[in-house]
Amino acid sequence: MNELPRSIREAGDLLRSRKASALELAEAALARSHADRFNAWLHLDDDYARKQARSADERLRHGDAPVLCGIPWACKDIIGTKAIPTTAGSKILEGYVPAYSATVVDRLDAQGAVMLGKTNLDEFAMGSSNENSAFGPVKNPWCADRVPGGSSGGSAVVVAAGEALFALGTDTGGSIRQPAALTGVVGMKPTYGRVPRWGVVAFASSLDQVGPFANTVEDAAIVCEAIFGKDPNDATMVEDFPNDDLRQDLDAGVKGLRLGVPKEYFAVKGMEPGVERAVREALAVFEKEGAKLEEVSLSLTDHGLAVYYIIQPAEASANLARYDGVRFGLRVEGPDLVETYRRTRGRGFGPEVKRRMILGTYALAAGYYDAYCVKAQKVRTLIKAEYDRVFDKVDALVTPTSPTVAFPIGAKVNDPLAMYLNDVFTLPVNIAGLPGISIPCGLSDGLPVGLQIVANSYRERTMFRVAAAYERATQHHLARPKEAVPA
Ligand code: GLN
Repeated sequence: MNELPRSIREAGDLLRSRKASALELAEAALARSHADRFNAWLHLDDDYARKQARSADERLRHGDAPVLCGIPWACKDIIGTKAIPTTAGSKILEGYVPAYSATVVDRLDAQGAVMLGKTNLDEFAMGSSNENSAFGPVKNPWCADRVPGGSSGGSAVVVAAGEALFALGTDTGGSIRQPAALTGVVGMKPTYGRVPRWGVVAFASSLDQVGPFANTVEDAAIVCEAIFGKDPNDATMVEDFPNDDLRQDLDAGVKGLRLGVPKEYFAVKGMEPGVERAVREALAVFEKEGAKLEEVSLSLTDHGLAVYYIIQPAEASANLARYDGVRFGLRVEGPDLVETYRRTRGRGFGPEVKRRMILGTYALAAGYYDAYCVKAQKVRTLIKAEYDRVFDKVDALVTPTSPTVAFPIGAKVNDPLAMYLNDVFTLPVNIAGLPGISIPCGLSDGLPVGLQIVANSYRERTMFRVAAAYERATQHHLARPKEAVPA
């Protein structure tokens, strides 16, 4: 086997009809992953993958194996994995090996999924291009001198390049949906509080969620079914929402559904005409399929960025205080404890992480707290209220995922503001805690464009339904990058 099957469903058919074994699938995935030319992997663990594949084959032989049994997958290296190094893309975690796995990893293990290794990312998931990784940038398989998006760039690329059948990422302001858009795959961020973060390196705790990258909408739903659900170790999962069958409405179509098109999402500075064209064509597809399109207004969209860049650095500066050379990873000894902290953090963190620590500490400082953090929380409430009002009228929102296609490596590294603007369509969704998915909707100048579908909290089923209807009506999800074939 040289190429992986196109979807989890196809792979499952091969496994269940005995046309391929889990070990053969794993070997094919490992061979492709070792030939990866995009710097997408930080760590491949052949022995571990083979061991898991052998036990998956055992389960498959006995029948009634779960749907992900024997499916090779990739894990963003910010998600903790027992006995396997976890770096968060940072030098400060060098040498750190977790003593336990994240709940999401345990849940995939329990299904018999086969983890190949850990994928590259922006340091502590801070970035939109993967250029902030301490281990070098990730390249886009559609065009190797372009970024794949970030921060989960490695996870997006291994799926786009056919090295793994699905991957996990994390999304704090767009880090699953934006790289999915820029690499032409499906990427999904669940409702805040639906997926346990136990064992995931914390970035901004009121925004972070784990979610899947996949080749198809159905595959993304399959992975969500495996990782969703309450975990006593995660106190943010207050609502014991019933774990519904996320695939139930995949074939229901959009006839009669009301889809909102936020007008502010087409009026931002820097929106590329090719992106707008592809998204408008997608809107026409929905209309043809029987959906009712309604223009809606999300007038606070512009403020999303400002709110995010207060709340996120403030939370990050608190979360990252624990990396001080005492418990985790790197320690650079100094003459006294304070100097040890200083040297460890000075050497261990990269420039973007330091920028955010400084911004966050400033916003949290007594005297500034009310002016920045409290104000940002108030605006956050208004943003959520505006979405609530819109979702009284529509079933889902359809928007571009990112205003641009993949940009050249290096193009925005010296302009943090330009970089932050990438997330203008994705981060309000995190601020409001809503579920969102990006699916491929065509090419602009040969590079993928992503279509974002956002639903109300806990309405993942509707979101998947809309996405699946589009996927069925078009061929865009079948496009694959030419450079993906190993040299
Ligand atoms: N690009 C955004 C940032 O740099 C979002 C990152 C994320 O979702 N992890 O913070």
